[in-house]
Amino acid sequence: MRNDAKVAIVGGGIVGCAVLYALAKRGWTDAVLLERLELTAGSTWHAAGNITHFGHYAEITRLYVDSLKTYQQAEAQTGQSIGFHPTGSLRLATSAAELEAYKTLEPLYEKLGVPYNVVDADEVERLHPLVNTDGLFGAAHTPADGHVDASGATHALAKAARAMGADIRRQCPVTHIRQIANQCWQLVTETGTHYAEHVVLAASFWTRELALQLGLDLPLYAFEHHEVITDDVPELKAMDREVPTIRDPAAPANTRQERHSLLCGVYETDPVLWATDGIPKAFGQELLVPDMDRLENHLIHVMARIPAFGASGIKAVNNGPLCFPPDGCPLVGPVLSHAGLWLAAGFPVGIGTGGGAGKYLADWMVDGKPPYSLPLINPARFATSMSAEDCFAQMKRTYARGYVMPTITR
Ligand SMILES: Cc1cc2nc3c(=O)[nH]c(=O)nc-3n(C[C@H](O)[C@H](O)[C@H](O)COP(=O)(O)OP(=O)(O)OC[C@H]3O[C@@H](n4cnc5c(N)ncnc54)[C@H](O)[C@@H]3O)c2cc1C
Repeated sequence: MRNDAKVAIVGGGIVGCAVLYALAKRGWTDAVLLERLELTAGSTWHAAGNITHFGHYAEITRLYVDSLKTYQQAEAQTGQSIGFHPTGSLRLATSAAELEAYKTLEPLYEKLGVPYNVVDADEVERLHPLVNTDGLFGAAHTPADGHVDASGATHALAKAARAMGADIRRQCPVTHIRQIANQCWQLVTETGTHYAEHVVLAASFWTRELALQLGLDLPLYAFEHHEVITDDVPELKAMDREVPTIRDPAAPANTRQERHSLLCGVYETDPVLWATDGIPKAFGQELLVPDMDRLENHLIHVMARIPAFGASGIKAVNNGPLCFPPDGCPLVGPVLSHAGLWLAAGFPVGIGTGGGAGKYLADWMVDGKPPYSLPLINPARFATSMSAEDCFAQMKRTYARGYVMPTITR
């Protein structure tokens, strides 16, 4: 078995697999992905799989657009289902300013060819009969949104990449990385040593420790992130369609249908960092201990907006680690100080943006220039290292804003 390749990707979550797939599509099939455990073993396996075309920053919308397209292409190539549910989403406005801000985005979506319209409270009620519209000014409706099976999408990308000639090694933790010559990187794993011209670090919060070996102090830490799943909701059982996902900046939380239940992801106002002293060596792919007390104030908002949520019992509460850069945007692109080193890490919404980011990075690697300018995700923005305290403070500020648009003060 060959242990040298043009590209070695570290990390087999949805992002690493998306990079491998996009490189293979561009003809760079001499690529190997090295995964510590199994594909999806990081944050990907427990993600809710929500995909919206309305992210935190309008500039990133193309990544959302390309992500769903990429998963659908991989599904068509392989027959591996990505489990897409095209439910659409509603981003609620509880102030006139919020609704106005949503309206300013209409030309952008028109240009991108993404269905988008701003609707009033009556239309919100028609689209989602479980929403209490008291105090609601309306919502941004993105009908092309939905949710995928995150594991299914990852495996579709992996299967399609393999079919094009790319290689995937599972149970293969990378322990050491170093540059031994120009255009030659050495990756030591527990099962052998690999060599590559290019290395892509797509190892989420583990990327920080790998990069420290190279003298890079990347601001990549994780938060604990909760999602709550209710028992079956009789009103949903009685409906003949799935309701849209609700993103409520006032909670802040997202709530979507999961079979006949509701699944709610919460952005805590006072979020809790995880493993800031280093990811525990023994950490496999387990969930963290949930803390319902921290969620209480948020869930009160959700119950007021969707009373059926409060009327149902709770079936499960999941708490998983979520990589979250200080500005909430991933690090995608080259590390200028280390020729041949690339980052695809720090994805808070990696299902929503991973497919598009994989394509963006692959185009940059193959063409030697980015396909379009997107300074918001360029790793160069963190070229000067930041103290841990500043980093944590900025992470908390950004995370706690949840779905509030950067142009709105709350
Ligand atoms: C509760 C919860 C709900 C979420 N819901 C959504 C959602 O609805 N929509 C959305 O877009 N996002 C969601 N997310 C976020 C989403 O899970 C992540 O953004 C996404 O999974 C990140 O993918 P990734 O490939 O970057 O990282 P990961 O999936 O964490 O993959 C990194 C991989 O690197 C591997 N690795 C690490 N170190 C090494 C090493 N040394 N050698 C080899 N391999 C290594 C790991 O084993 C892992 O498989 C959610 C997150 C949580 C916690």
